[in-house]
Amino acid sequence: MTTTRLRLPKWLKRPLPQAGMQYTSDVIADLKLETVCESAKCPNRTECWSAKTATFMVLGNVCTRPCGFCSVPRGKTEVVQLDEPGRVAEAAARLGLKYVVITSVTRDDLPDGGANHFYECILAVRERTGAQVEVLTPDFKGNRAAISRVIEARPDVFNHNTETVPRLYHRVRRNAEYQRTLNLLAQIKEEAPDMLTKTGLMLGLGETRDELLEVLADLRAVNCDMLTLGQYLQPTPDMLPVERYVPPEEFDELGELARGLGFSMVASGPFVRSSYHAGEMAHVAGQA
Ligand code: SF4
Repeated sequence: MTTTRLRLPKWLKRPLPQAGMQYTSDVIADLKLETVCESAKCPNRTECWSAKTATFMVLGNVCTRPCGFCSVPRGKTEVVQLDEPGRVAEAAARLGLKYVVITSVTRDDLPDGGANHFYECILAVRERTGAQVEVLTPDFKGNRAAISRVIEARPDVFNHNTETVPRLYHRVRRNAEYQRTLNLLAQIKEEAPDMLTKTGLMLGLGETRDELLEVLADLRAVNCDMLTLGQYLQPTPDMLPVERYVPPEEFDELGELARGLGFSMVASGPFVRSSYHAGEMAHVAGQA
């Protein structure tokens, strides 16, 4: 493992906050919601929140998994708040969102992993706002009934991140299994062939190009529609170090390559995250 921190390259600079940022911040605070934008220290927060968009993180701010890349706190989980779906819907309405992205911490302590809560959130948002909904879920430990429950709510996009190549799972994504992720994506297409599926990987964690290409082929083999590729950034000093800053041109080239493999929508760039410009991405994928 690398111990010295790599110097940040010049292409990793971010814009200054705009007027909408405070409004977004106030809505989220007022409704006592969590966002992955804050919890995961996303580098796009200024841009997204200035544009009055955010990714809601439900089921608390404490995770049951010790992933090496993620700064969301882990430990004793919080009680599921039954009014949370309504508050997410209210926030979506106040922000005027036409496309809502909902994610969660991993809740291995709940019998259904929080699947029914996702279900309730999707229905609440749709009923209150008519917006399209994308969910970015954990793997529910491969619980097929739990995954079916989320599918039943008919999200417009069902996203589950692959995060990295299988060789690095034990370090990056401990307690997850690569095959389980592929199975989840496959199950969605089996049960709802028209539902758009999406996944994402972080680059710069030590993966090789060949390993990455194998993963992309595996994802296409389960008919995954949409792909995000972004640069891993170390959120706090105790998280895994960056092994490499992938230059923008290489992201472009990998994006082209992925499109050639048949993904209907690919976003590839240093700042791409699962939920970055998610609405635009779904719009393009839906037309493909
Ligand atoms: S990219 Fe996603 S997680 Fe990051 S700030 Fe934007 S909406 Fe939030």
